[in-house]
Amino acid sequence: MDKYKKISFVLILVLVANIIVAATKIVLGYLLKLNSLTADGFHAISDSTSNVIGLIGVKLASKPADEKHPYGHQKFETIASMIIGFMLILISFNIIYNAIIWFINPITPSIDFSSLITIIITLFFNIFVAIYEYKMGKKLNSEVLISDSIHTRSDFFISLGVIITIVLINAGVSPTIDPVLSLIIALLVLYSAYKILKTSFSILIDEKAINQEDIKKVILNTYNDVIDVHKIKSRGHIEYTFIEMHIVLPSSKNVTEIHNLIHEIHELLEIEFNRKIELNVHIEPGEINRY
Ligand SMILES: [Zn+2]
Ligand SMILES: [Zn+2]
Ligand SMILES: [Zn+2]
Repeated sequence: MDKYKKISFVLILVLVANIIVAATKIVLGYLLKLNSLTADGFHAISDSTSNVIGLIGVKLASKPADEKHPYGHQKFETIASMIIGFMLILISFNIIYNAIIWFINPITPSIDFSSLITIIITLFFNIFVAIYEYKMGKKLNSEVLISDSIHTRSDFFISLGVIITIVLINAGVSPTIDPVLSLIIALLVLYSAYKILKTSFSILIDEKAINQEDIKKVILNTYNDVIDVHKIKSRGHIEYTFIEMHIVLPSSKNVTEIHNLIHEIHELLEIEFNRKIELNVHIEPGEINRY
């Protein structure tokens, strides 16, 4: 299975899980007249939307480079990840909105032991999904999976908030704790959105993918006949990076030697930085040996 097929497989698994969780919460929320649980259920539907956006992004990103898109289509994954980030912002605004509404029209939720158990079960479910998704995201170097797992993790906080609210209200704490906890959770969700957007924006604006100094050091330490490396630019993904640079070589070298050397440097960089690299080198003649 290729990388994008694996990512899609993980996303489909998570999608099915989310649909089951959403349906359970909505039905239970209506039966128990527990608004926070119903809201949480509808939120879980937005999780499925997030998974679907991820799936579409991954599908588009998997297309190989073509004449019109010589740099490939990987940025579709970044765009999908960005949309997931924006959706989290909407979710946090929705939580804040509901908390404000509570102050205008306070409702005390009715709650029993069995619904608490159900929420705790979905909570564990959330933890499991978030950890699985994050691990697979790291393993497959997938922005979409990592973003979606950050989303799932914030769902964990939302469910946890519901549980704490129920426990505290049952223990006799003022129901005001409901909107107060909601606001805290909204901030956590906003922070998650920030983390996702920070990563996707840095890729979209072509932030350096590898430190210039690291690239320079690797080349100069390995090849004594390289006089200098400068104007190093790198951009792209953690698994697929474009690098441009100027390399100063002794003017005595012939074209065949230089060509072989550039191929060696290319391989060296791919091994050293553990990713696929597209290398573009500008050669300059130099006389001064650095030793
Ligand atoms: Zn969610
Ligand atoms: Zn130069
Ligand atoms: Zn070649």
